[in-house]
Amino acid sequence: MPEHLHDVVVVGGGPAGLVVALGCARAGMDVVVCEKRTGVIDKACGEGLMPGAVRALTALGIDPPGYPIEGITYRQGAMAAHAAFRAGPGRGVRRTALHDALRAEVLRHGVTVLPIAVTDLSQHGDHVRAGGLRARYLVAADGLHSAVRGLAGLSEGRTSRSAGTPRWGLRRHYALAPFTNAVEVTWAARSEAYVTPVGPDTIGVAILSSVRGGFTEQLAAFPDLVTRLSGAEPVSSVRGAGPLRQRTSNRVAGRVLLVGDAAGYVDALTGEGLAVSLATAAELVRCLRAGRPSDYDRAWKRTSRRSRWLTEGLLWARGHPVLARRIVPAAVRAPRLFAAVVDQLAR
Ligand SMILES: Cc1cc2nc3c(=O)[nH]c(=O)nc-3n(C[C@H](O)[C@H](O)[C@H](O)COP(=O)(O)OP(=O)(O)OC[C@H]3O[C@@H](n4cnc5c(N)ncnc54)[C@H](O)[C@@H]3O)c2cc1C
Repeated sequence: MPEHLHDVVVVGGGPAGLVVALGCARAGMDVVVCEKRTGVIDKACGEGLMPGAVRALTALGIDPPGYPIEGITYRQGAMAAHAAFRAGPGRGVRRTALHDALRAEVLRHGVTVLPIAVTDLSQHGDHVRAGGLRARYLVAADGLHSAVRGLAGLSEGRTSRSAGTPRWGLRRHYALAPFTNAVEVTWAARSEAYVTPVGPDTIGVAILSSVRGGFTEQLAAFPDLVTRLSGAEPVSSVRGAGPLRQRTSNRVAGRVLLVGDAAGYVDALTGEGLAVSLATAAELVRCLRAGRPSDYDRAWKRTSRRSRWLTEGLLWARGHPVLARRIVPAAVRAPRLFAAVVDQLAR
């Protein structure tokens, strides 16, 4: 019997992979997902869905439980600048809740999620092979440290020009009523703390830093936050990720297409990873439906450009101590400019 040929194999059952699988299934394609982890998946994430991500999920009929977010507050010492979202609400959503909602919808569409860790890839004239499966196309959605990206020859090493200072992220949850219904970002000398409400009695604390260290050690750079968290019970273990910056030479190599963090990542400091993953996943499905996978790289660049440029700009300022100290004061002094930047992030 001839070996089965799927239309699409998706490697990675995180948000990007599941949204691609859903789009392919809804378009009538034969799609299968390989996910190395089983059960409901958690991940180091700030868990703030920007308004654009909430809208994209709503358009897919997905409505994960969470806590409404109406804007972003930047803090430094006694200074605070706040900008409200003008493009509708965002939402703080536990990654477990997001995964549960996406996976349920994918399974409802009859997509099989196989417990396979993909470690091989070979491309042939009219198909690709990986993880013991054969498909016309393979979508690599295997996250920040994508193995498939390397196997497809699309990873770009660090160059002295592009390297910058590596940054890492850590997160933990606490049983505490949200302080506000904004994402609060507190800036310290070499790190930022992001407090995101994810439920009426739970907040997430994510710390992004250019120095490595444990969560408690990193938290010590934010004495006000330490005071506010004192006595609150941690309700999740610490999870980490990094280095955050990952460069790719292209998003397409033959029959392999990259999406989500696997497609390249700048930093989490603008909190747009999920919004960009969802938007580029939709573009990828559009290109496959049109039978034009080679159009996807251009579509990815166009769709992610605003986010990449804003994140690169802010990261550049963050990397210069004199400028970094002036980010929050500038947001306080120029509230309209701050609101305009937040608007761009929220789209
Ligand atoms: C500290 C931190 C804070 C962040 N804060 C925010 C935020 O507030 N808002 C926001 O929008 N974004 C945020 N992000 C970014 C966001 O988490 C990512 O952009 C998002 O998770 C990307 O989704 P993904 O599906 O591409 O990757 P992932 O969620 O990483 O999923 C990849 C999946 O692939 C699977 N996998 C990996 N290798 C293989 C393999 N070989 N075979 C099979 N399966 C495999 C993994 O098990 C995983 O389930 C943050 C990131 C970090 C690190």
